[in-house]
Amino acid sequence: MAYSFTPLAHDIKTKARLGVLKTDHGTVDTPVFMPVGTLGTVKAVTPNDLDQIGIEILLGNAYHLYLRPGIQVIEAHGGLHRFIGWPHPILTDSGGYQIMSLGRLVEVKTEGVTFQSHLDGSTIFLKPEDVMSIQKSLGSDIAMCLDECTGYPATYEETKRSMDISMIWAERCKRFDSGIQAVFGIVQGGTYKDLREKSAKGLVAMDFDGYALGGLSVGEEKFVTYSIMRHSLDFFPEDRPRYVMGMGSPADIFEAVACGSDMMDCVMPTRCARNGLLFTRQGKIVIKQACYAKDILPLDAECSCYTCRKFSRAYLRHLFMSGEILACILNTVHNLMFYKDLMTSIRKAIKEQRFNELKERFEKIYLN
Ligand SMILES: [Zn+2]
Repeated sequence: MAYSFTPLAHDIKTKARLGVLKTDHGTVDTPVFMPVGTLGTVKAVTPNDLDQIGIEILLGNAYHLYLRPGIQVIEAHGGLHRFIGWPHPILTDSGGYQIMSLGRLVEVKTEGVTFQSHLDGSTIFLKPEDVMSIQKSLGSDIAMCLDECTGYPATYEETKRSMDISMIWAERCKRFDSGIQAVFGIVQGGTYKDLREKSAKGLVAMDFDGYALGGLSVGEEKFVTYSIMRHSLDFFPEDRPRYVMGMGSPADIFEAVACGSDMMDCVMPTRCARNGLLFTRQGKIVIKQACYAKDILPLDAECSCYTCRKFSRAYLRHLFMSGEILACILNTVHNLMFYKDLMTSIRKAIKEQRFNELKERFEKIYLN
């Protein structure tokens, strides 16, 4: 396994940093935003589109792929990279969050989790080792430990119990580590800072290849999310990648990077694109608004994506209002390019010691 992470430079005023993540399927410059390809596809775009945009790493989901099409089908193709036609790095989420949010959860015990499939209602029992075995078969570059994503609100006792189970599962996942893929531990502990600290320190002692912050943005207020993020990331070691899961908006990304996060993911750019919400350097555009009906300008004059080079806002509005499939495609291409450009400018700003300046400029436009 050709896996390594090298921190390269730090911002002086914040904890933002630059790094390089190396995997068997390629190198990723960090901080990076990872588009979500839960079912083995980033909705509405082809791997070729992703390549053209310059996407370096995708997110897949072990829970979804295990249920459908099933691991044997993917194994028969030689793994997830070949199955989905994506030769670059892939991180697979274990599915802890999806088991809790999509399936009908039956029981969470130290031994594992019992739930009903959200597809056919069948009862399934998965141990942490099963989830690692699934991810090994998928052949992702980075596998995530099985964790229980604690709901919100939750009492201190409920959160502690849940965090303790995630910790036991993490230990078992680490023991199962096949050495052919990097394995990240996931810090839980809800909104309780002492539990977050305990979870982080416990996982760091297990010596994972990287550390993720899970269980945020599950209903708590934004200032709580940011406060827990700031607090927790301080316990993550310098020499391993730090991944803030399920964040987010451009403002979330700036905040996470300022706290030292190297990796982020969210469905926001792709889901918003399909709903006609587009990100530009001038702010958000709701393409269905009547003011764009005769607008011959591109979405974002500074954007170099296929959509902005070829089409006007009026055409994009027409496609969206007509319910055309092309609306989803062109909108997704643009939003992913916006995020890609955002990360490039963040990395450049860190390198040039003007990250805060860029953050403040963006926050004026994207107040969330
Ligand atoms: Zn564009």
